[in-house]
Amino acid sequence: MQKIKLVYKYINQIIRRFLGEYSNCHVLSFHRVVDEHDLNNLGIRDYELSKERFEEIITIYLKNNYRFVTMDELLKLKQKNEIDKHVAFTFDDGYVDTYFNVLPIIEKYKIPITIFFVERYLNNSIVKWDYALAELLNRSNNHVELLNFFSINLDLVPSKNKIYDVLRKELKSKNNKISYKQIESFFIEFLPDYKYIIKKYMLNTQQLKKMASHNLVNIGSHSSSHFVMTDLEEIDQENEILNSKKFIEEIIVKPVNHFCYPYGEFNEKSKEILIKNGYKSAVTTVPRNIFKTKKEDFFCIPRYVVKCGDKNKKFLSLM
Ligand SMILES: [Zn+2]
Repeated sequence: MQKIKLVYKYINQIIRRFLGEYSNCHVLSFHRVVDEHDLNNLGIRDYELSKERFEEIITIYLKNNYRFVTMDELLKLKQKNEIDKHVAFTFDDGYVDTYFNVLPIIEKYKIPITIFFVERYLNNSIVKWDYALAELLNRSNNHVELLNFFSINLDLVPSKNKIYDVLRKELKSKNNKISYKQIESFFIEFLPDYKYIIKKYMLNTQQLKKMASHNLVNIGSHSSSHFVMTDLEEIDQENEILNSKKFIEEIIVKPVNHFCYPYGEFNEKSKEILIKNGYKSAVTTVPRNIFKTKKEDFFCIPRYVVKCGDKNKKFLSLM
């Protein structure tokens, strides 16, 4: 059923593009760019790209005469209706590989990027639980006790990948202000050195500062805690949106104008709070091209999430 829906959406978009409703403009969402041999063997691999594949995607856009733009430029071009054949590259979460692997490649091609940074990943005051979970599963041999922690019973003894997916779903459902402590207790019990382990994945303060002062890099906010916005009360959404802006601005000594909704989820309140607090735009994970004829809501800008290997590469056929 899901597949039929996706095919329908895809065909629908092609027809609407044919009718001139969509431009050729894309915003892409990347997460990690790593060496081929560092690609993970669990489901989290979806959010990883090899350096070669990343470079290949850049060259495809260049061969098709696309211009790479920042989020600021993108908004200006949309207002002038000159959006066609432009692409903006964005990176979510603030992984250290944007510093070591992405920077040399974008310098080579002179293309700008925007990194959406999560405040509390910086000092480890919140568990970067997706990678903590992957590390845990790659080390642990007793997966049943991990499931037992959340009283999850599976009939058959599932594969490591299946367990990753089940636990990821469970942890995501607890990723809010009220049940977050359970995520922390889980890792304190099974991966007590998680802070040390996760640190190696994320940008540190010095690297963030260096990135922010680079003329090809823009820094945006991806909230304070990476909680699902729609699970939060208005006051907590406001704290996530405003505190992260202030915190990052203080470090990088530059304005933070763009926001990225964790998991792409938001409601009308999120948009109101962003506008009230001086943001210029916010990006989602709605997979489509930017509108050409219609006005685009700058607080729910669509993005294609670029996934590992051949998964989800339809955006390349929608140029
Ligand atoms: Zn994220």
